[in-house]
Amino acid sequence: MSDEPIEHLDVVAVGAHPDDVEIGCGGTLASLARQGYRVGIIDLTDGEPTPGSPGPHVRWREAQAAAQCLGVDVRICLELTNRRLFDTQEARLALARELRRYRPRLVLALAGKTPLASPDHWQTGQIVDAALYLSGKTGYDASLDASHPPHTVEALLYYTLIFGAAGHPDLGTDIYVDVSETLDAKVAAVRCYATQFPPAKQYVFDRIQSMAIERGISAGVGAAERLVSPRPLVTTNLIETIMA
Ligand SMILES: [Zn+2]
Repeated sequence: MSDEPIEHLDVVAVGAHPDDVEIGCGGTLASLARQGYRVGIIDLTDGEPTPGSPGPHVRWREAQAAAQCLGVDVRICLELTNRRLFDTQEARLALARELRRYRPRLVLALAGKTPLASPDHWQTGQIVDAALYLSGKTGYDASLDASHPPHTVEALLYYTLIFGAAGHPDLGTDIYVDVSETLDAKVAAVRCYATQFPPAKQYVFDRIQSMAIERGISAGVGAAERLVSPRPLVTTNLIETIMA
């Protein structure tokens, strides 16, 4: 077993590439961090190569700056292969190892297909589902069991990247997070990726803001991000939940 001291995390968000998490649930992560929770991001790949970037070192610097904008405590990259990301046992185990290491209570996972965009996104959801299972169970892989004790993640929520019909896969129950106070931090985090969003792509920021505001309007708040729970949401205090 590893005896390295690790500060555990309350929440871990998983994406395929640096910038997925920011676009999908950056406001939520910033809110959680401001509320005092320990938040981490795991990028499965370094997202490179891409046309506007000189290489992974620059993209990683952008990712670290973005994490700072959100107030995230830990960001790691598993360095699986960008554009060749598949739901393999190797990928599942690599992520399960980090879940055992950081022991989050809640995982936010990229889910849903992104037609006409990277297929890595869809694969990420499959990898996360499997890694959560492997994290909590022993006897599947000797090296995983030797690395850290098993850890069962208490809750899983999905975030999505595509906002049209394909962005509403039948994944479960919607929950909207009020990001009125952290929308600016989310947009600032996405802006850190200068290699991905050059001046010709400035419209991306308008879209991100518009989507959050539209979702906020539908939920009666200033701005919101949509998450999806694979389980029905349950409460023991209906009034507090509904009136929140
Ligand atoms: Zn991506």
